[in-house]
Amino acid sequence: MAQSSESVVIIGGAIVGSSIAYFLREQGFAGSVTVVERDPSYQFSSTALSAASIRTQFGTPVNIHMSLFGAEFIRTIKDRFGAGADIGFVERGYLILGGPETVEVRRAGVEMQRLEGADVAALSPDEARKLYPWLNVEDIGVATTAWRNEGWFDAWSLLSLLRRAARARDVTYVEGHAEGIELDGDRVTGVRLSDGTVIAADWCVNAAGAASAAVVRKLGIELPVCARKRTVFSIKAPLERSNVPMLFDTSGAWIRPEGEGFICGIAPGEDNDPDADGDFEPAHELLEEFLWPALAHRIPVLEQLRVERAWAGHYEVNMLDHNGIIGPHDKIGNLVFATGFSGHGVMHAPATGRGVAEFITHGQYRTIDLSPLGFGRVRSGTPLHETVVY
Ligand SMILES: Cc1cc2nc3c(=O)[nH]c(=O)nc-3n(C[C@H](O)[C@H](O)[C@H](O)COP(=O)(O)OP(=O)(O)OC[C@H]3O[C@@H](n4cnc5c(N)ncnc54)[C@H](O)[C@@H]3O)c2cc1C
Repeated sequence: MAQSSESVVIIGGAIVGSSIAYFLREQGFAGSVTVVERDPSYQFSSTALSAASIRTQFGTPVNIHMSLFGAEFIRTIKDRFGAGADIGFVERGYLILGGPETVEVRRAGVEMQRLEGADVAALSPDEARKLYPWLNVEDIGVATTAWRNEGWFDAWSLLSLLRRAARARDVTYVEGHAEGIELDGDRVTGVRLSDGTVIAADWCVNAAGAASAAVVRKLGIELPVCARKRTVFSIKAPLERSNVPMLFDTSGAWIRPEGEGFICGIAPGEDNDPDADGDFEPAHELLEEFLWPALAHRIPVLEQLRVERAWAGHYEVNMLDHNGIIGPHDKIGNLVFATGFSGHGVMHAPATGRGVAEFITHGQYRTIDLSPLGFGRVRSGTPLHETVVY
């Protein structure tokens, strides 16, 4: 059990950093907890710019378990944060389409997910068409979905709840840019801010999202986490929203209801996906060239869509295997990573927060074993491949 004299400094105060702070108190960590955040408006954080959706359809068991806990956390938000807590959770499955050549693999994936506890199913094209009459199924072989534990919510509201609860339990938020991590041999002793202040630390957690590689680069640590721009388009369309899930098309296009309309997007091709480094300009050209044709093919009524606005945020992509990097550095044991989620960091923030807090407070994971996501695989270059990547 960690001593009450110990201190934790978390770099990055968005959904992952704040979840860790919240769960440290939940786990009974009695020492000081400081969150260093360079931009308290969070306007450029991935958290604020994300599509804030949650799925249990993953190819890696640990990701499924993290999502199942995320869904439970979201569903029981009022029990934790009070009757007024509301993050607008819409519990509705993802609908992930696959071509005829993928049927076997996708059905095997569903079997595995069911064994791990996810309430998912594989649908034939006809079954999908019956549930979603607006869907063009002519070129698909399978559609997978979940009956529970998937959907979307308001990430900003969740972040606000976590921060408020953390603050109420004596977590200090400091506005500042963490510029360096101070070491004594192979131990972190403090975090240095750009104004020269050093905050002493018995534990340092790197939850800096797309900037997390920069945070440790001066230590000679090459974290394979890069910022990749993802554009979201907010649209209106003559399609009844109440029966539209989070749809992932075979083309890579996605769409889901939001407010009075929909949000949608598509990842750029790999050869057109450079390091985003400060670039938040929406990639408008994706709409005309790729997204609109793909959506209109899949949902013919979307021929008539109207774009209301667009924004871009950064995925913090773990170039090794598209999975989070969670846990201590192999040599600097009190430097803990919580980054690299590659497009699933909002849904996995509760499980990450709880796991990191367990590790710091009790010296081990007590609930979900997060060790498959540890730094060791980065050191050895051994990917834990996630097959269901968006
Ligand atoms: C368009 C888009 C759609 C997405 N959709 C989903 C989705 O549907 N579901 C899902 O689960 N995930 C989704 N994601 C991914 C998700 O948003 C991220 O994985 C998640 O927000 C990561 O949270 P974080 O707290 O680690 O990082 P961030 O939210 O980026 O926060 C990092 C924080 O660290 C701060 N910081 C960085 N460097 C420093 C420093 N040196 N000193 C002090 N502070 C620092 C930053 O200011 C920032 O506030 C999406 C992302 C994008 C861009």
